[in-house]
Amino acid sequence: MAKAKKKTVTWWKKKVWKTFSQFIRLRDAIATTQSQHTVKCCSCGRPYPAFGIGCAQAGHFVPGRRNTILFDERCVNAQCYNCNVTLKGNWPGYYAFMLERYDLETIDELLILARQIRKFTTDELDELNQHYLAEIESLKSQPKPDILKRKKAAISLEERE
Ligand SMILES: [Zn+2]
Repeated sequence: MAKAKKKTVTWWKKKVWKTFSQFIRLRDAIATTQSQHTVKCCSCGRPYPAFGIGCAQAGHFVPGRRNTILFDERCVNAQCYNCNVTLKGNWPGYYAFMLERYDLETIDELLILARQIRKFTTDELDELNQHYLAEIESLKSQPKPDILKRKKAAISLEERE
């Protein structure tokens, strides 16, 4: 039997993106509307279907789709087509959203990360894909509406002192 042709990194990146984008929209739908069907856009706050026709997309905080942040859960959030594409990410709205959830250090870290270089191997991408497929299944069976609120708790460094 002929050995199956190994898929390329580009093929795997597309595959993982499809899975990761579903994970992000499901995560944010549960977090913003406690449903698995409707999600609020991170930068304008309007509700959209999480999947299917006219659905929200998974939009990057930092544009450019660099490998270092391509699959970073902090950097990718459900966003409507208008904000993501027409408004090129709707930076002011997105930035306000990020400030609500993360401290400035984390935001700086993400901006630095977005300028760095990372190469994926097909094995890594295969693993990532399996990881997010499992995450999706787990969210579907056990929705966690507080998934983003938990991160918010990490903000208050000053308040703790
Ligand atoms: Zn929007």
